[in-house]
Parts: sequence; C-alpha cells; structure tokens
Amino acid sequence: MPKKDIVLYFSPHQDDELLTMGVDISKTCLLENKDVHIILCTDGSKSPARQRLNSGDVCPKHNQIHKCNLSVEDFVKARDFEFVSSCKALGVHSENIHIYEKRAVDGELSVEYAQEIIKHFVSIYGKNAEICTITPFRFFQFQHEDHYNLGLAAKILAKKKEILKTKFFLESNRLGKFSKRIINNIIYDIKKEDITEEIEDKIKKAIDVYYYFNPAEKRYAIGSHCVPFLFEFYKKNMLTYCLKPRIRI
Ligand SMILES: [Zn+2]
Ligand SMILES: [Zn+2]
Repeated sequence: MPKKDIVLYFSPHQDDELLTMGVDISKTCLLENKDVHIILCTDGSKSPARQRLNSGDVCPKHNQIHKCNLSVEDFVKARDFEFVSSCKALGVHSENIHIYEKRAVDGELSVEYAQEIIKHFVSIYGKNAEICTITPFRFFQFQHEDHYNLGLAAKILAKKKEILKTKFFLESNRLGKFSKRIINNIIYDIKKEDITEEIEDKIKKAIDVYYYFNPAEKRYAIGSHCVPFLFEFYKKNMLTYCLKPRIRI
C-alpha cells in the first residue's frame, strides 16, 4: 500500500477543530491518501462555561439554574470528551486524536511553547507532514491569545523551514462584511470550503456533541455554553475559511 500523506491539525481548544477547521478536517478524512491527526494544545480549563454551569444563575440556553459543581478537573475531562467525540464525528480515527499530555493551560500557550508542541509532533510524523492551524490575525479584532500564538508558531517554523507545508484557517465568525472587502484579494486569498451532503451530516453530528446536555451522564454541552453565539452562527453557516497570503505578512 502506498504511504499516506500525514496531515496534522493543531487545535488550541476543544471546539476550534470544529468551529474553524471542521469542514476541511472532514473532507481530508475522506481522502484515501491522507492520514489525518488532530492535536489538542491546551486544556480549555479557563472557559467561562464552568462558571455558567456552576453558578446558580438562570442559564438563558436551558432556561433553568445549573448547579453542576464542576471542579476544574471534571470540567476539563468533560471538555476532552466533547473534543474526542467531535473529532470522531468528523471522521478522524480514535488513535489519531491526540490530547497532548504536555498541553498548555488554557490562556497560557506562548508562541515559544506552541513551537515546541508542533516540533514534537513533527519529530514523530516527519517534516513532510502538513501543519494546519488557525491563522494569526489581528488586523481588525482581538484574537484569542492561544489562537494567535499557535498560528504564529506555525508561521515562524515555516519561515525557518522546520516545517515544509502549512495551511491556515480563519475563525469564520471574524470575517465581517467590512473586513471581507478589505482583506479579500488584498492581503489574503480567502477560500470558503465547499460542503457536500455527506460532509454536512458529519458536521451536524459534531455540532450535536457540543449541545448534548445530560449531567447524569457527565455531559454538560460545554462548547455551546462557552461560546453560544459562535455555535448558533456555525450551525447556520458551517463555514470554514482557508487563507492564502497574497503579500508577505
Ligand atoms: Zn479556541
Ligand atoms: Zn444551560
């Protein structure tokens, strides 16, 4: 059997694999010559969803009071479960889903450490592996520090030729009308990933993972409690934007 091309997707948190790279991951998994891996780079422990699920305030989503009393450890465990289930729904093999044992604490992923993580996986899978992650992008709005640093780390390594193939994605909610006009065709070539019915089914299943709420099963719909607007937006649009820089940035 011919050797497969390795594709490594680096996700800062449990949900970015879906919200920013989901369509591409799902499509690549369907290609026979690709071996798709996903790496989770932080623990996602700082999400405001923990407070929402513990606080006793009325949750606008469920119109009830949650008193889940989740410790940080329980919370991270439940988020990891959502991540693994989402990756599986997208079509990634279980053994290719990596919750990196030395991942950073949420919000503390430095650009140096992000490089270490990428280099670690490149040392296992080889320099020819394609490195896919979120683009570092701060022209118009704030970008989460972990997202920015991870993208920047991939760019630095590419510049140093420590990685040979890269692919960058933009968080779909950040491409407003104004920024689209300015950015498209000037700074980036923005490619919206097409979606087939088969892919749409997979994406829907992955979305469901982040909405599933049943505390008796230790399932808390953390993704959709964390960024409810992003999930509602994604549900309607299922957008994945791949970026190709037109100018050196
Ligand atoms: Zn994130
Ligand atoms: Zn709720």
